[in-house]
Amino acid sequence: MARVRLEGIEKRFGRTRVLKGVDLEVQDREFLVLLGPSGCGKTTLLRIVAGLEWPDRGRVFLGEREVTSLPPRARGLAMVFQNYAVFPHLTVRENIAFGLRMRRYPEGIVREKVGRAAELLRIGELLDRYPAQLSGGQRQRVAVARALAVEPEVLLMDEPLSNLDALLRLELRAELKRLLKETGVTTVYVTHDQMEAMGMADRIAVMREGEIVQYGPPLEVYQKPVDTFVGGFLGHPPMNFLPLGPEEASFLLGDRREVLVGVRPEDLQVFQEEIPGGVPGRVLVVEPLGPHQLVTLEAWGQALKATVPSSLSLEPGNPVWLRISKESLRLFDPRTGRALL
Ligand code: ATP
Repeated sequence: MARVRLEGIEKRFGRTRVLKGVDLEVQDREFLVLLGPSGCGKTTLLRIVAGLEWPDRGRVFLGEREVTSLPPRARGLAMVFQNYAVFPHLTVRENIAFGLRMRRYPEGIVREKVGRAAELLRIGELLDRYPAQLSGGQRQRVAVARALAVEPEVLLMDEPLSNLDALLRLELRAELKRLLKETGVTTVYVTHDQMEAMGMADRIAVMREGEIVQYGPPLEVYQKPVDTFVGGFLGHPPMNFLPLGPEEASFLLGDRREVLVGVRPEDLQVFQEEIPGGVPGRVLVVEPLGPHQLVTLEAWGQALKATVPSSLSLEPGNPVWLRISKESLRLFDPRTGRALL
């Protein structure tokens, strides 16, 4: 049974169509990430699930229940938002207890649930502090503990890590993943950070201009993007796109037609000696990144990015030969950008 189901959600703000008929199912215990560029409608969709915004059309279900017109507090959800500051005048303990007190749990139960949430988030020793006495990461943990303390069936998170520095984000990302699996809460998580999405999600819904353009497990979305938008959005650096004329296409693919070839930087094999069937190219820029290096190359008359082992000693100006295995290619229609099967 899907824990969250959206049917034909449409939303306008003034003349702007922000959501254009979104259908989505999030399974019980699933960690779903809504991923997309700024302004594509992720937050609006999440707010509609939360009941903080009403759709113009469409329906929202939580489990079997239709909740489209119910207020937030009647939906049994918990939320952690980007700037969802914890209450500054309450201690960590009181912050975590807040939702439980609202639900009028007896004091003994409140104490027990606060203790458990604090333990899960590893902030047990901070319970008597005020938010001003905490680091950004600790404060964020308090916000998550407060949301989880009420043991919601569905947890909604909107860019909860975006105010933190890179290292802390990385650490909290793994912790959140562990935590949400441990508690088994169904989660809808909004981010525009594709690394976060890839690393955390069971499934990713990629959004573009008010629509979900692809929905699937992270690796599937990464390896089989349905169009050049998804291919270009996921991956760091993104997929290379090579427009090939019929002649070049026939050389590479044995098929005479115009295509856009998508190849990931890690699938571009770079050789320093000529190899049979290799395509000649030239090194433009080398960026050493530790375990590998990012090389900008010129080949097929255009610039491409390749990630290659650090052991290759490449200098700008060096001639190279490139090979792409057929299995790693994705073909797109040059006019529509849609993947060709
Ligand atoms: P970001 O990653 O930048 O938060 P997003 O994908 O979450 O972006 P939304 O916040 O859902 O995008 O906004 C989608 C569009 O709707 C944007 O063009 C935004 O300007 C517009 N919008 C959002 N809320 C309102 C509102 N209350 N009134 C008018 N326009 C709005």
